[in-house]
Amino acid sequence: MTTLTEPEEHTALRAAVGALGKRYGRAYLTNVIAEGRPPTELWSEAGKLGYLGVNLPEEYGGGGGGVSELSIVLEELGASGSPLLMLVVSPAICGTVIARFGTPEQKREWLPGLADGTRIMAFGITEPDAGSNAHRITTTARRDGADWVLTGRKVFVSGVDHADATLIVGRTEDARTGRLKPCLFIVPRDSEGFARNPIDMELSAAEKQFELVLDDVRLPAGALVGEEDAGLLQLFAGLNPERIMTAAFAIGMGRYALGKAVAYARERTVWQAPIGSHQAIAHPLAQAHIELELARLMMQKAARLYDAGDDAGAGEAANMAKYAAGEACAKAVDQAVHTLGGNGLTREFGLASLVTAARVARIAPVSREMILNYVSHQTLGLPKSY
Ligand SMILES: Cc1cc2nc3c(=O)[nH]c(=O)nc-3n(C[C@H](O)[C@H](O)[C@H](O)COP(=O)(O)OP(=O)(O)OC[C@H]3O[C@@H](n4cnc5c(N)ncnc54)[C@H](O)[C@@H]3O)c2cc1C
Repeated sequence: MTTLTEPEEHTALRAAVGALGKRYGRAYLTNVIAEGRPPTELWSEAGKLGYLGVNLPEEYGGGGGGVSELSIVLEELGASGSPLLMLVVSPAICGTVIARFGTPEQKREWLPGLADGTRIMAFGITEPDAGSNAHRITTTARRDGADWVLTGRKVFVSGVDHADATLIVGRTEDARTGRLKPCLFIVPRDSEGFARNPIDMELSAAEKQFELVLDDVRLPAGALVGEEDAGLLQLFAGLNPERIMTAAFAIGMGRYALGKAVAYARERTVWQAPIGSHQAIAHPLAQAHIELELARLMMQKAARLYDAGDDAGAGEAANMAKYAAGEACAKAVDQAVHTLGGNGLTREFGLASLVTAARVARIAPVSREMILNYVSHQTLGLPKSY
């Protein structure tokens, strides 16, 4: 049945992915995290079923859909307790940018593998001295004959150890300072001069974050994706899906935590009635549900605008969706932990580690304050303080 917000095919996709997620569930991810490895089995199976590439063009093995479909995949896997973080990066950012701006060779080389999950691409933009101010990035690409030579440092880049390559955001030598004119390079994992050091994160997740050092990494001309001076449009073609997918990640996690809390509140009885009958427990859970639903509506709006080719409209909505989802997720997880009392902090119930994980959606890929800045300036026309 087509609902107001969702066509029938989306509801069917949601159900199918949800069934896959439930087969793996939280127990699977908990084991994977304990073993310190990526969730390969789930990734491969989701790839074989066509879920990882739902947004990529059919002619390259994808599903021919958009970020609307891909966000459903991530949300439903998350709601079952086993989200795949690299979906935010590999098909959503890298796949989209290559599909929209890549050369025919890049599309042939990368898209089929990104679509079926046999290849993974990480994405590196964050730098230690730039942080939220991407205009300050200094990773520089200089031409040397037909080649490019890349130098710089990145931090917090997820999944580099298992990714076949990383899409690195740099700037060309002649655009070294001032407003960022980004250019994007595919850097294979084992390129000479490309070093990675794991960052010791207090985060219970299957994917690790890395500091990357690019020390005169020599790349062929074909490593440059799109135009050297295509500017921010090309970059945001990847960053908007990233924000929408982070919203999906957060909404999935929030739903998972809320589901656990509601089930517990229905059963746990310490007076005459289950704790869920006390409004002090029930109302915050109801609020969390409402806020997650609202965040999903904004995510769906952002995804629809993006898939319809409205990059500018999608930008504002993607920011708002990421903000709303990050806040709703952090609140839902916090309330879920609280609902379980002492059990909220036990390994058996596995909710406490989500408190840290939920914070990620408030920090990355763009912090809540930078979204509030965006809305203050771009939407409301208020002056800038920085
Ligand atoms: C788990 C995880 C995975 C990540 N994966 C990737 C990845 O795969 N690739 C990648 O490139 N990056 C990745 N990141 C990095 C992430 O995008 C950055 O952490 C994020 O953009 C914030 O940058 P920062 O950490 O340098 O914080 P900073 O920019 O130093 O900000 C610190 C604080 O100051 C606030 N602040 C900064 N400027 C302003 C301002 N003008 N007004 C108000 N407040 C301000 C921020 O909101 C924030 O609260 C990841 C981060 C995490 C935590």
